[in-house]
Amino acid sequence: MMATEIMYSNVSGQVDQTLANRLQAMPKVEIHIHLEGATDAQTIYQMAQCNNFSLPAASLEEWKLFYEFRDFNHFVEVYAIASRCMQTPEDFALMTEQFLQNQSQQNIRYSEAYFSPALHFGKLTDEEILNALMVGAATGEAKYGSRVKFIVDISRQYPHLQTKVLEFALQGKEKGIVIGLGIGGPEVGYPPENYTKTFAQARTQGLRVVAHAGETEGRSSIWGAINSLQAERIGHGVRCLEDASLVTKLCQKQTPLEVSPQSNYCLGVVKRDEPHPIRQMINVGLLCTLNSDDPPMFSTNLNNEYLTLAAQGFSWEELWQLNLNTLEATFLPETEKSVYRTQWQAFLQNTGVVDTLRSDHQGDRPWRALRAIAHATRKPNYRVTSINIP
Ligand SMILES: [Zn+2]
Repeated sequence: MMATEIMYSNVSGQVDQTLANRLQAMPKVEIHIHLEGATDAQTIYQMAQCNNFSLPAASLEEWKLFYEFRDFNHFVEVYAIASRCMQTPEDFALMTEQFLQNQSQQNIRYSEAYFSPALHFGKLTDEEILNALMVGAATGEAKYGSRVKFIVDISRQYPHLQTKVLEFALQGKEKGIVIGLGIGGPEVGYPPENYTKTFAQARTQGLRVVAHAGETEGRSSIWGAINSLQAERIGHGVRCLEDASLVTKLCQKQTPLEVSPQSNYCLGVVKRDEPHPIRQMINVGLLCTLNSDDPPMFSTNLNNEYLTLAAQGFSWEELWQLNLNTLEATFLPETEKSVYRTQWQAFLQNTGVVDTLRSDHQGDRPWRALRAIAHATRKPNYRVTSINIP
């Protein structure tokens, strides 16, 4: 049987080719990916050359080697160098356009991407950066049919810039390119409570709010994100499993968790020789979504994240459920979500799954039946029958 080799796997390293093809073809969305961290080594190299920025490498080949993940400190260094290479409006537009090209190659129809303006203050005006992001988004959508909206991230290590970041986000909201505010960067030493007022202002002014939490810091960070920031989604959140009352709270609220397995393996949040705790998270009833975080820096992409879980024993139904969860967790208005639901449904019809769902549920609303079966797959004793993988 043909099999697909995946970039990183701690279990079998191989996935059945039929399932791999289906995961590639499956229409998807992604809600936790950083624009800066999604820009590949070659593009950064081109920017460095155009902007006369010297890299710690004598050639593109050397730079590509340098760009590969080694350890946490090296990752931080690569991220900082890459961000410094992004200088001109053309750079920001190009990054966004290429981002959409990469997303469309994986059949990702829509993304909510983080952007960290604190890394770029002083290079251009807010207006210039936002206009460049808009140009890149419009060009990329026209060329590749994939869309992006941005969540502007406060870099925790620069708490004194949080008001400026909020102003940037609000300007972006006016232009229709920014939908939310987040916090990212080093979690340890920078608790969510430091950003409470800024988040309150953001919510009042109509921004959606999310927070990286429970990745390198434990339960207190997630409690802070929920209670102080009123975060609507949690970036990563895997360490919630350390606190039963926190798990109960997140389950009750059905707060989406933006899980990114390869990022967790690379950064040592999860040990490489262990299955990812997303299995446990799903089993206890947490609402998990699947994402790639900083894909080229972790030698991954969203497709590879699905393959990783497939290699760890996730069934097609479970992976489809994660895909559905991610769509439902977007901040899209209901009318736009329903357009994507129709596309998702068309994909299932083309793969011959819908008839099974219809006959199982005797309904004339395939989507509702799909939701029902999808929901049921979360219950441990439920068994999905006769879904035909062509
Ligand atoms: Zn992230």
